[in-house]
Amino acid sequence: MSRPIPQRRRPGQLNRIRIGVLTALCAALAAHMYAWYYLDWRSIGKFSFSGLASVMVGHVNTAAVFCLVLVLSLLFVGRLFCGWLCKLSAFQDYTEAIYRWIGFRPKLLHTRARMVRLFMFVPYFLPVLYTWREVGLTTAYVNLGKVEPWTGDLPQTLLGTVFYFATVTFGLTALFGRRAFCRLVCPFALFFQLFERIPWIPRITQAGRCIGCDVCDQTCPMGISVENEILRQGKVTDPECIRCMICVDVCPVKALKYTNAPARPAQQPDLAPTFRESAFPVWADAILATLAVIGGVWITMPPYTGFYVFLGASWGLIVGVGAVAMVAGVAAIPALKRTA
Ligand code: SF4
Ligand code: SF4
Repeated sequence: MSRPIPQRRRPGQLNRIRIGVLTALCAALAAHMYAWYYLDWRSIGKFSFSGLASVMVGHVNTAAVFCLVLVLSLLFVGRLFCGWLCKLSAFQDYTEAIYRWIGFRPKLLHTRARMVRLFMFVPYFLPVLYTWREVGLTTAYVNLGKVEPWTGDLPQTLLGTVFYFATVTFGLTALFGRRAFCRLVCPFALFFQLFERIPWIPRITQAGRCIGCDVCDQTCPMGISVENEILRQGKVTDPECIRCMICVDVCPVKALKYTNAPARPAQQPDLAPTFRESAFPVWADAILATLAVIGGVWITMPPYTGFYVFLGASWGLIVGVGAVAMVAGVAAIPALKRTA
């Protein structure tokens, strides 16, 4: 490369807009929860991922409408929701900002334990199976205010809520790096990835000439090899891409665009693909995955189902890092080998 290689850059205006959207979303959710729990405004129903279960048993409530709209968005804009409209996306971004503020930059680590995201669907399917067994589909109805089948909910005390989110954000991020919750725990990420094969959805695409500076790789919160994908195929097709557009924002030559227009011809079509390699040995990944499943099963014993599984699995992963340290020594924990 004859051009000077730019230094690592901070996201700019696009990212500030994204954080603004996420913050507005959090404020709206807080108002929604206040209205539900404290003002008893229940006729408006409840927005929740538990709507997936409602859809599957034919109940059209507010949560089901929310999930249907979300699925529709996947058909046309890909995983834009994950980067721009998910509350856990916001909390992880805030966590990252706080860590950065105190000078802590956890290293982004991949692990094969991410496969436990498949298991996370269990708490969502069990109420569906139960409802099918009990009443079948004959109770299908449209009623926005009803919430059945109920699959549990977030903690309903302030302390419980703080503890929950501190675990899935501060805890996981400290040990596995940016967006650890999305990469290792969130089952919806796997479900959403099914839509990533749709040919017409917009993707991060090479619209200008990439100079191979690696800045996008350094800033992608999902640990995607953006530069490799751009040089090799002219666009990012990794299904983990959440369309946060941080790479678009930081690219020093503005080579990237979120679009479904054809990409410029790939510059290095023969380049070998880069895979997300685990930072842990196989045995350590097995320990992490096993403890994540045990944590998820343990916490989702009735009455705690639904979203509690995230908390249990996160505890499992955190305890798993401790177990790996006990087996192989603290120095074997990749999170401790920081590169800043
Ligand atoms: S590839 Fe770009 S848009 Fe996709 S997750 Fe990474 S930074 Fe965000
Ligand atoms: S896409 Fe932009 S930021 Fe990424 S390697 Fe190419 S020039 Fe650098």
